[in-house]
Amino acid sequence: MNVKLNDNVLVITGKYAGKQGKVIATSPKSGKVTVEGINVQKKAQKARKANEVSKIVEKEGAIDVSNVMVVCPKCDKAIRVKHEVVDGKKVRVCGKCGAVLDKAYAGKGKAVEAKAEAPKKRTRKRAAKAEKPADAE
Ligand SMILES: [Zn+2]
Repeated sequence: MNVKLNDNVLVITGKYAGKQGKVIATSPKSGKVTVEGINVQKKAQKARKANEVSKIVEKEGAIDVSNVMVVCPKCDKAIRVKHEVVDGKKVRVCGKCGAVLDKAYAGKGKAVEAKAEAPKKRTRKRAAKAEKPADAE
């Protein structure tokens, strides 16, 4: 599958043809993608707990990956994805302008990756325990 999470894609067939959206879920096994704002379906959600309210929620349904094309972030066109090897890894590139589509390699890989995320140190605040008065009972 050439479409990955967070890609911008253009829908080419069906009711949503011509619309663009961000990929919010992929399922490579079934060859489907879920695109933000595309194929929105209404579902009735019934209240199951006392403090919930029955309502209609709108949720995107998955569409077939063959119905979308990746939009190149650089030349802003729906493109065919090509593959190239960068730093020994196969990456996706734009079939038209040659821009690297995989973000980790967009800036030529490793240097960018290393900087990306230093693990945050967790400082856990302990709630100062209120001392129980001796005569609590
Ligand atoms: Zn391009």
